Amino acid sequence: MPFSETANKMDFRFAHRRYSLPFRVPVRTSRGMWRVREGLYVRVERPDGSAGCGEASPIPSPGTEAVDAAEAFCRSLGGLIDGQALAHVPGNLGALRNALACAMGDAVDPPRHRNLGVAALLPAGRAALADGPQKAEAGFRVFKWKVGVGAADDEMAMLDDLIAGLPGASRIRLDANGAWNPRTAGRWLGRCADRPVEFVEQPLAPDSKGADDQLAGLSADYPVPIALDESIRGDGDVARWLDAGWRGYFVIKPALLGDVRGTLRKLAAGRARVVFSSTLETGIGAQAALRAAFSWPGETPALGFGVWPLFADPGFDGPPCAPSVRLEDLDRIDPEALWNAAN
Ligand code: MG
Repeated sequence: MPFSETANKMDFRFAHRRYSLPFRVPVRTSRGMWRVREGLYVRVERPDGSAGCGEASPIPSPGTEAVDAAEAFCRSLGGLIDGQALAHVPGNLGALRNALACAMGDAVDPPRHRNLGVAALLPAGRAALADGPQKAEAGFRVFKWKVGVGAADDEMAMLDDLIAGLPGASRIRLDANGAWNPRTAGRWLGRCADRPVEFVEQPLAPDSKGADDQLAGLSADYPVPIALDESIRGDGDVARWLDAGWRGYFVIKPALLGDVRGTLRKLAAGRARVVFSSTLETGIGAQAALRAAFSWPGETPALGFGVWPLFADPGFDGPPCAPSVRLEDLDRIDPEALWNAAN
């Protein structure tokens, strides 16, 4: 029986720890260099002494929760909670609610897969041309390349060089991180139509004027699917795009969903195409997010979890980056050890 069903009226010991972990190499984002991953661990201990841990790893960007707010809420809980605690987490603290659900052993449905493919992350620009064939040699067949970093014409020419250097069965994902205007996005989508491009991720910024309608228009006008990433910041955005009948991909970062199980069930009921992806979380969050991916009942395209090794202290990394991840790899992560290490 899920922990929370037996626990409504009992008190459980609750603790939280904030972590601040330098990346091994700073991560380049559209908002500059990201050097230190900040987040929270939570731990819930049952009266019998058994315990569970969870991680809140929001992405620092406008519209997502701040670690400060999550930490302040944890402090307000004090040292004891009951089985109703999840119901009291504010709606804007989805990552924290997720962490608490995970610590309470109540986060996702049982696994439906034993082994899932992983996409290789390629560096932006020309560096991808050397890196792609090396990763193909290691067994990867799905490659994600950041675009919108240089001039569109240069990058389009590089795409053909990249394709030429990869094995025939390879698929490429392009991630523009919202860098294009509608005209450039249209040129790119036209260009990709007869190339082995699996999808184009977030061609337009989510908050630009009329972006939702323009994304829907691009999706209808071109055969290459569009994936929404930055447009999906939590459960509410998933529901909104499902209601709007979005037929492209949803990039789902389970760590950002307050109600992982409920939102995945809605996506499955809507027969949505889902790509699971990392928020650059540590091992505790990685274990939970990957368990969500393994619970997905539908077809599961290569996971966007080829991110580790990530931290200067490798003890906090998720499963090693490989062309696939097995269910057993998740069991090897020991949340309690990470909790202790974050002391
Ligand atoms: Mg993306």
